[in-house]
Amino acid sequence: MTVRLYNSLTRTVEVLQPRKDKHVDMFVCGPTVYDLVHIGNARTFAVFDVAAKWLRYRGFAVRYIQNITDVDDKIIARAAAEKEDPAAYAERYYREFMRDMSALGNTAVDTFVRATEHIPQVIAQVKALRDKGFAYLIEGDGWYFDLAKFPGYGKLSGRTALQADDAVSRIDENPDKRNPGDFCVWKISKPDEPSWDDDELGRGRPGWHIEDTAMTEAYFGPQYDLHGGGIDLKFPHHEAEIAQQEAASGKVPFVRHWMHAGFLQVAGGKMSKSVGNIISLRDALKQWPAEALRFFFLSAVWHEPLALSDEALKASAAAVQRLGELRRKLVTFSSDKAADRFGVAVADARAEVENAMDDDLNTPKAFGAVFSLVAQMNAGAEEGFSDRDASAAESFFAFVSEVFGVVPSASHAPAEVDALVGEREQARARKDWDVADRIRGQLGEMGWTVDDTPYGPLVKKK
Ligand code: AMP
Repeated sequence: MTVRLYNSLTRTVEVLQPRKDKHVDMFVCGPTVYDLVHIGNARTFAVFDVAAKWLRYRGFAVRYIQNITDVDDKIIARAAAEKEDPAAYAERYYREFMRDMSALGNTAVDTFVRATEHIPQVIAQVKALRDKGFAYLIEGDGWYFDLAKFPGYGKLSGRTALQADDAVSRIDENPDKRNPGDFCVWKISKPDEPSWDDDELGRGRPGWHIEDTAMTEAYFGPQYDLHGGGIDLKFPHHEAEIAQQEAASGKVPFVRHWMHAGFLQVAGGKMSKSVGNIISLRDALKQWPAEALRFFFLSAVWHEPLALSDEALKASAAAVQRLGELRRKLVTFSSDKAADRFGVAVADARAEVENAMDDDLNTPKAFGAVFSLVAQMNAGAEEGFSDRDASAAESFFAFVSEVFGVVPSASHAPAEVDALVGEREQARARKDWDVADRIRGQLGEMGWTVDDTPYGPLVKKK
């Protein structure tokens, strides 16, 4: 089974070919834990969650690692502003991040690895770079990567930072740098900053890019299969990772396949903490079910930008609600008398989803196939569903749910709603219409409607 994916390194859609048969070592840049994640971050993490789940569905043994940057300038600054210990501050936001990911249904990562737990690996890699002549010391500031020594620089982004003189290239500023784009791999720390001792390098902490390569070298070795992150990380972060690892090991390519997720856009611009136009995932989840947010995140192809709007979110919520309703109908509308009618349609829908996903994880096309089935089954619901149709559809939706996480469960009404519906049925059976109506009103206040169908009550969200 082959899966084709867009590769930012070659700028083409390619068959994913891991180093070893069907083993995929996959790494995705995780959060810097200094605040709650926003829904832009969440889109990127949902994209890679689905990518890993799809590869596993297709029989790849995926080892998926994500890093947690828990020592960094922003953490230090925020913690100082709040008069909190930086380590405790980062720990707090690490926990919040884990809570948010699980609320969103991002469950594919095998191991979260923290920068602060890999300092010996960072030090070893900086020393390897120094010993091979790729890193030099600026006294009192830090060890820098010398880009002039690495001719491969720019192969991912098509940019070169030797001459470039923009804010992105000049991340680590120091007038004594040999080239404008040289970046710090080990920062000599200032008093009161988190730091680690090393006799040779000097007391310090990791530069921005080095933790990722130090960690992946520890877990996967100097080369691996798939690296992901948001599009903003392509340059300079991922370019720097390539330089570090290929220089340290001499092995090329560092990573075979690079995936960059498109940005979540707000009215034309990107959603980012620096612009100040963010919506935290925590807040979004108060307003929208996780399934609706996931549906929205996956409603554009993963490497395309996605425009945030209230209409798009409402449409996503309505779509997942339709899925939930059909799932309830499969139970409520089952009938001994109904003929088997949907076997072929269900099998076709599954094949279409598989083809769409194998072809560069085309989630919008996959959703198109799911909803064409939903429309067909809804149109035929009044005639009832045979057991065979209901169970074929149910297992299809279980598959859709497992891979995408967009299907509300059949019993998605809260228990108290189900209990009231049961009471109302009893009232109707005794022809106690007043009580039945009162319960309908009560359900309405809770945001639910109930349709009395020939097969029994069908509960719907308003
Ligand atoms: P950060 O904590 O800023 O490093 O971001 C964590 C992840 O979210 C990275 O992979 C970023 O590329 C990604 N990211 C940041 N902003 C957005 C956005 N507006 N849309 C999509 N992904 C984003």
